[in-house]
Formats: sequence, structure tokens, C-alpha cells
Amino acid sequence: MVTGGARGIGRAVVESLAEAGATVAFTYFTSGDAQALVSSLEKAGGKALAVPMDVTDRETVEAGVKTVLDTFGGLEILVNNAGITRDGLLLRMKPADWDAVLDTNLKGTFYCTQMVARAMVRQRYGRIVNITSVVGAAGSPGQGNYAASKAGLMGFTKSMARELAPRGITVNAVAPGFIETDMTQAVGEERRSHLLPQIPLGRFGRPEDVAHCVRFLADPNMSYITGQVIHVNGGMYM
Ligand code: NDP
Repeated sequence: MVTGGARGIGRAVVESLAEAGATVAFTYFTSGDAQALVSSLEKAGGKALAVPMDVTDRETVEAGVKTVLDTFGGLEILVNNAGITRDGLLLRMKPADWDAVLDTNLKGTFYCTQMVARAMVRQRYGRIVNITSVVGAAGSPGQGNYAASKAGLMGFTKSMARELAPRGITVNAVAPGFIETDMTQAVGEERRSHLLPQIPLGRFGRPEDVAHCVRFLADPNMSYITGQVIHVNGGMYM
């Protein structure tokens, strides 16, 4: 199950996991074309399911996870990808923007992980991958709320890795750098030309760059990697 799988990085993860042969459920919140993605995955021979979910709303998380479990009978991979930004400098940041980002990125991941881990613990198997950010490690002016949520995810990942290891569940994080999606669309030309020279590999990332790493960590053979944060950022932060 991939949260926020209808577009951006989440969609690339859904497509990559489906290509690897996984039966994929993904969640959508405001995206209107989730069913079109299901149809295209099914046309390619896969099995897919789209479930509505607001990760900040515990009831929809519970209902969504139940639908996935009832439909597929189990849940082996969870990718906590849903996330938002509400940028603002400290002195101007509205408490509502702080709360929205922490509720979506951090509390949402807690809700989803808690619901899904129940099934994984029973199965004594699971792969959990949390999508954090380079910003959680390096910081970023104007993104105090986002950086706090993503750094929080790194601590959560390591704690869950320790807690769930005895049950055969690995928990890792992927920290993307600057990836071309709707989220980074709003970044102006000036900021882009400031950022590009800081990337040794000389280009912004593509959603597929992140998806390949998630697919690697979600593989059944990856049973000896847990509690790690893997940076996918073209070298912009080492
Ligand atoms: P997008 O803005 O393109 O997509 C955001 C996704 O999150 C959408 O699928 C959206 O669903 C979902 N979402 C937002 N709010 C909620 C909510 N309350 N409940 C459920 N789903 C929600 O972002 P990206 O694809 O760029 O980002 C995906 C993840 O990667 C995020 O966690 C982001 O922080 C992280 N990241 C992105 C980077 C980048 O450069 N793009 C860099 C580092 C990390 P819907 O469309 O259905 O509303």
C-alpha cells in the first residue's frame, strides 16, 4: 500500500512495484484520476486498488487499511509517501501551517504504520518505507515545519526498526533531494538555478529515481537492511 499514490513520487512507486509483480493498493485524497491509474495497471496485467484516505483522519486510515486487507487478504509493503509543504519563515509562520504539515507528514505516517503493522505483526513479515527528505537532514530556511516533520520521520523510522525487527518487519526511510513533481513546480526559476549547481550529478531528480530505491528496500530479499535513511539526491547532501 502506497499512500498518496495517484501522482508524483507516490505514483512512480506504485508503477515500479506493480512492474515488479506486486499487487498494489494506493491511497488518494484530492486526486481525481485514481481510477485511471488502476485501469492502466490492470491493462498491463497487474492487480490494483485505489482507496480514498486522508492520512490526518484516523477513521479514514482505519477504513482504508481494512478495505485493502479485506480485498487482498494481507499487506506486506507499506510506503508512507503522502506529504505536504506549507512554507514560511519562522516569524511569519501560522500555527495552522505548522499543524497541517506535522499532522500530514508525521502523524499521518504514525496512523498508517500503526494500522498496517497490526497485520504485519500477525504475518511476521513486512517492509515499511517512509519518504522523508533531504530537508529533514540538512534543514532549509522557510521550511521549519517541513524539516521538523521529516527529521521526526527519521527518528520514527529508527524506533520502529528496533521495535518491529523481532517480528520480521524492516523499516527504512528514503530521503529524496529535489525531485520534479507538483510539489517542486512552484519553486521559481531563480531558486532552481541556485540549487542546480549544488547537485554533483548535474540534474534534478525524477520520481523514478526515488521509486527504484523504494522498490529495492521493499524487496523480500532485503531482509538485512533496517533503520536506515537512504538519500536519493544526486549528491546534493552527503
Ligand atoms: P506531490 O505534491 O506531487 O504529491 C503529494 C501526495 O500526497 C499526493 O499524492 C497527495 O494525494 C498526497 N497527500 C497530501 N495530503 C494528503 C492527506 N492529508 N492524506 C492523504 N494523502 C495526502 O508531492 P511529491 O510527489 O513531490 O512528494 C511525495 C513525498 O515525497 C512527500 O512526502 C514529500 O514530502 C516527499 N519529498 C518530495 C520531494 C520533492 O522534491 N518533490 C523531496 C523530498 C521529499 P492527492 O493528490 O490525492 O491529494
